[in-house]
Amino acid sequence: MSAWETAALAVAGLFFGSFYGVVAARVPDGRSIVAPPSSCPACGHRLRPFDLIPVISFLLQRRRCRYCGALLPWRYLLVELATGAAFAAAHWISGRDWPLTAAGVVFLSFLVILSLVDLERMLLPDRITLPGIAAGLALAVAGMSFVPWSESLLGAIVGYVLLSLVRLLTGAMGGGDAKLLALIGAFLGPADVLRALLFASLIGSVVGIGLMLAGRLRRDQPLPFGPFLAAGAVVTLTLAQRF
Ligand SMILES: [Zn+2]
Repeated sequence: MSAWETAALAVAGLFFGSFYGVVAARVPDGRSIVAPPSSCPACGHRLRPFDLIPVISFLLQRRRCRYCGALLPWRYLLVELATGAAFAAAHWISGRDWPLTAAGVVFLSFLVILSLVDLERMLLPDRITLPGIAAGLALAVAGMSFVPWSESLLGAIVGYVLLSLVRLLTGAMGGGDAKLLALIGAFLGPADVLRALLFASLIGSVVGIGLMLAGRLRRDQPLPFGPFLAAGAVVTLTLAQRF
């Protein structure tokens, strides 16, 4: 049964992912996520339910708008696939415990949306990070978390203070990064928030050096750190899982 449950969650994740693409595009500007309905970015034609089936529409229409033929950005497909994988991973990481799966789904959803916004705009808006911190604390208070509420609170504080210090000392980080690490701490607690930061720095260094060697990144060009923090959190959550 459980393999079917994981697969069903993955499919649900594809649909949520298509909604998260809208959230990532609109919420940073304070725009509504329900109105106006989704439309083609090139011609503005309103998209019908048939155009909004995750992955399938994108592949059947060969990445093109059905109305004007414009090539659609890869972000639509990528965010759907990432969210589908995140939902399945949440179920697996949680040992298929449903309350923990719910916490994992909420946590990974915030990470997907924030990574996408940071990649596209180099910012992590308070409109998304602050509700994420609140969600992490609330789930812990409700007993639906990977950590008890005291560790959730401490994790959020440790995450925020730690990156704020790094920012103060080096000037390398944005204020949004500290709030994202607070969010990660609220879900994972103080010990794992340190691990997440360590993995994020490692992954960030490897990718940064790789991009520089490939000539894709200049030395003075900043990389968004949010996706690396998210990746660090996912690695930590996966390793913390006892099978
Ligand atoms: Zn179009």
